[in-house]
Amino acid sequence: MNCISLIDGKTNVFGIIGNPVEHSFSPVLQNTIACELGHDNIYVPFCVKEKQEIQAAINGAYSLGIMGMNITIPYKKEVMEFLCETDILAEQIGAVNTLKRTDKGYKGYNTDIIGLRKSLEVRNIIVEGKTVIITGAGGAANSAAILAANGKAKKIYIVNRTVDNAAKLAERVSDFYDIEVNAMGYNEIMSITNPDILIQTTSVGMGLTKGKSPVEDTGIFKKIEAVLDIIYTPWETRFLSDAKKAGCTVINGFDMLVYQGIASYEIWNDIVIGKQQTEKIRDILVECYTQGSK
Ligand code: NAP
Repeated sequence: MNCISLIDGKTNVFGIIGNPVEHSFSPVLQNTIACELGHDNIYVPFCVKEKQEIQAAINGAYSLGIMGMNITIPYKKEVMEFLCETDILAEQIGAVNTLKRTDKGYKGYNTDIIGLRKSLEVRNIIVEGKTVIITGAGGAANSAAILAANGKAKKIYIVNRTVDNAAKLAERVSDFYDIEVNAMGYNEIMSITNPDILIQTTSVGMGLTKGKSPVEDTGIFKKIEAVLDIIYTPWETRFLSDAKKAGCTVINGFDMLVYQGIASYEIWNDIVIGKQQTEKIRDILVECYTQGSK
């Protein structure tokens, strides 16, 4: 990335705050976009070790003139009280992953929801009028549930190991949208009638749970049009291979990662990156990621 040799006092600085951040793909993603577009921008990872340091980190970043930041685990909620404004969808989700510098401070956005929406849209998978199942009830499930509700799904089913957590998320969605939202455990998943889309948001299938799937009853896939697994390492989880065998359209989480990053870049720079350029950037990043993970 030879653009980095051109850094000077006019270069716009962006970054990501989280813990850990060493393995984050976002620096590669954001610096690739800047290089592709020929922008004088640089993006750097910043590890904030303790929750108590978040306010100082945000204030310090503002004083240093940092133009925008991504926020990752575990600070997506915590950071919200230190912002001057929060976008409405991020407010509904209850988490931000993108901060944009304004005259008054940083404004928070959630581009995970944009990444998810775009991953479906580019494959012509429409949420409107559909029955959407979401597995998991954590941070990523919040984005998926608000995406489904905001996209005018017909019904939403939140399926989770801890049913109480699913019920809390269902309640949160109902606070903002007039839509049928149901909460249940995995033992009830086969009772869902005419499901169309399943968004898998748990961490099951990666790391120590590689080879496992949260959805053991694969009969459900026979009823479904498309599934998205938020995981992209491994590239194809057991969940996705089970769904593929049953004939579903399958999508892994890498497109979500790329499209949320592109959406952050667009917000920070007040631009819209065209379809052709978006797909070119996506292809470069897929190549880069799959080569790097071999
Ligand atoms: P989180 O808030 O910790 O939620 C984790 C969810 O997974 C919870 O619902 C939890 O259920 C469930 N879960 C964990 N272990 C389980 C198990 N053994 N069996 C069944 N359910 C289990 O995490 P998150 O922030 O939502 O992130 C979830 C995943 O999404 C992570 O792998 C993260 O890397 C990925 N992610 C990807 C993208 C992307 O761009 N592709 C973006 C954001 C996140 P309980 O409620 O019962 O504990």
